Amino acid sequence: MWFSIVMLFLSSLFFPVYFMIELGRKRTNKLVCFGWFLVATSYTVYILNVGRWDWIGYYFRYVLIAFWLYSVVRAVRNNRDVPLWPPRSFVSWAGPALSAVFAALFVFLGAYALTGHQASEEAVDLRFPLRGGTYDVAHGGSRTIVNYHNEYLPQKYALDIVKLNAGGWRTMGIYPSELQAYAIYGDTLYSPCNGKVLEAVDGFEDRAPTLSEKLPEGVAPAGNHVAVGCLDTKVYVAHMQKGSVKVKAGDTVDVNTPIGLVGNSGNTSEPHLHIHAERNGAGVPITFNGEFLARNGLIRQ
Ligand SMILES: [Zn+2]
Repeated sequence: MWFSIVMLFLSSLFFPVYFMIELGRKRTNKLVCFGWFLVATSYTVYILNVGRWDWIGYYFRYVLIAFWLYSVVRAVRNNRDVPLWPPRSFVSWAGPALSAVFAALFVFLGAYALTGHQASEEAVDLRFPLRGGTYDVAHGGSRTIVNYHNEYLPQKYALDIVKLNAGGWRTMGIYPSELQAYAIYGDTLYSPCNGKVLEAVDGFEDRAPTLSEKLPEGVAPAGNHVAVGCLDTKVYVAHMQKGSVKVKAGDTVDVNTPIGLVGNSGNTSEPHLHIHAERNGAGVPITFNGEFLARNGLIRQ
């Protein structure tokens, strides 16, 4: 578990900052400097989209952008008077060539992640089920690179939502073991549409946050959950707190009806809202107020 957390910080902060420092340095020719510009820029666009900024701190995204700008200015200033091309030798061209290959890879990955902001199928428009804070999409979008759910057809386009505290983190600390430490824990969930409750399940324990522990036998992956019929889709709101489900199958609900509290029951690594819409066993894209969200999208309620 700690390995993936260390990798997360390396890939989101250490690598981009290192590339930007290299970008700003004085070089023997402008082509080498341009190579570092491609590396730093392509990687930054990639990590701004794909990175888990709810873990790193959402506002570090802006620090990174500011540092990139500063590095571009430094690069221009430091390399104004150097020759344009490197001398004619294999060694002097190897660096820029490697930079170009690296940049091509991350331009491709970044562009691929950006296409995750669009869904080709028709979406069901819902009311965002949480109120009173800044919420962030941890997993969401139409590409697996920004939304691991997409691998599994019924949960295609599912969203995992966390809440950000004033500092832009989903919790204080990196991965605390108390459920109450997570900003979203205990928030009231409202029905995502005016409709009928199709399923309401309660009674599963809230679990301690874990990235590795298996789901105990007999526990539903969705944990305590409510499914509401919204137009021709079935919308699941999952991982609720034990004893908090306030509705039962057959109830008529509207977007102001509280249905339960955010918890950590079922197959979940920490308190969050999981929501997805299904039609005939296949996931359907969801929009909130007309907007289709992908990873790092914010909802201010
Ligand atoms: Zn989920």
